[in-house]
Amino acid sequence: MRGALTVSKMMIKNFLLPRGTADILPEEISRWHELEQKARIVCKNYGYREIRTPAFEETELFARSVGQTSDIVQKQLLSLASQKEGDGSNSPLSLRPEGTASIVRAYLQHNFIHAEPISKFYYLGPMFRGERPQKGRLRQFHQLGVELIGPAKQNEDLNLAFLDAEVIGLCVQLLRSFGVKGFKVKINTLGTPQDKQAFSSYLRKVLKEDLKSLAEEDQKRFSENIFRILDSKKKECQQIVKKIDFAKGNYLSDFSQKYFEKAKSALRDLRIDFEEVPYLVRGLDYYNHIVFEISHEALGSQDTLAAGGRYDTLVQQLGADPQTPFSALGFAIGIERVLLVADQPATPTAEVNVFVLAMDEKFLQPAFCLVNELRQAGISADVNYQLGSIKSQMRLANKRGAKQVVIFGEEEMKEHAVSVKDMEHGQQNKIVLNQVVDYLSKIFIKKG
Ligand code: ATP
Ligand code: MG
Repeated sequence: MRGALTVSKMMIKNFLLPRGTADILPEEISRWHELEQKARIVCKNYGYREIRTPAFEETELFARSVGQTSDIVQKQLLSLASQKEGDGSNSPLSLRPEGTASIVRAYLQHNFIHAEPISKFYYLGPMFRGERPQKGRLRQFHQLGVELIGPAKQNEDLNLAFLDAEVIGLCVQLLRSFGVKGFKVKINTLGTPQDKQAFSSYLRKVLKEDLKSLAEEDQKRFSENIFRILDSKKKECQQIVKKIDFAKGNYLSDFSQKYFEKAKSALRDLRIDFEEVPYLVRGLDYYNHIVFEISHEALGSQDTLAAGGRYDTLVQQLGADPQTPFSALGFAIGIERVLLVADQPATPTAEVNVFVLAMDEKFLQPAFCLVNELRQAGISADVNYQLGSIKSQMRLANKRGAKQVVIFGEEEMKEHAVSVKDMEHGQQNKIVLNQVVDYLSKIFIKKG
């Protein structure tokens, strides 16, 4: 027998979740629900509506938006291997690594430009990146993000800087509502696309000397997309970056400088503390003007909670009329990282208001029917079908946090009644069975 057991044990594979993913267990889900609920309220107050896009899109969409040379596209895209022929298109598909590209795609596809002057979207959902898993870095993680997209009346409009401040303000407000304290807001400007070009030439000039001392990966960044050097995670590279005299580069146009000043002044109006970080550029290609990150020390090396910025030219890059200038900006908050630092308790058990217990097998059927009626009346209720002593069953009721316990006992049932015990005050009443739902409704269902 023993031998047979070993053989069958060897044949049964124990499945574990894929690396870099996580099960969100029932005891943790209340924290997610609470966060999601707060997110919906705050976003609604700021005039945003929820949008849900598919978990995968054409790979090309991400390459064209996030950038061919970004880490996300070069190393982290999780592509779908099997595509059936005749599914309408043979374009390769990938799981979405972020939300912005999909939302701009949806904005254009559904013609929002003609529906409203400015579209304010928020989204909440899983993102996928083939990264090396570590604390705070998963391969499936969740983001709450917002995107604000609309045609711009003119090419250079200083007043739009209010929107940049407003969006950063919304990000801060969301984090506060989630119970996160002690975060840091860092901002920078990349200027107009022309300024970005000048910025890139300046970086090329000052970093040329140091090129040889950079790691191979960063040397590649130098030639392919020099901005990527500024957000390199390599220590040696970061030291070189810290020595750059950004002000000397003088790459920002008059307008971009004024725009940055106006955004900062609006942030001060919102009483948001921030730090200017001249080497903050973000890992994605599509940004211009204001970029920002919000970090939290307690997170250790993966310390960014949220990040975003302005991406005016992306809408045209993804197919909008090149004659129409756009104003577009947004951010994404990493939910798992927020939950690591948020001040919010978990709920260890599934609580119910009413627990029903039967003292004999013949009462299981009426108990079964009562619990069903209670639930239909909108009262959370559960029942125990595994008979036991009153003491052990009361322990179960306590564990479930029941406020009232209904007991089907021999004596009471002779009179077609049950005992209903108030767990807080210890008081016990005999109630006729067909009045129990009414009796408990008066306690639990608030009128009006
Ligand atoms: P990082 O520099 O930490 O890699 P990123 O620049 O890739 O971040 P974004 O693409 O801007 O980050 O995503 C916004 C937020 O989403 C991050 O600040 C973080 O909170 C969260 N996030 C990004 N990648 C992951 C991941 N692999 N696992 C968990 N959260 C993530
Ligand atoms: Mg990353």
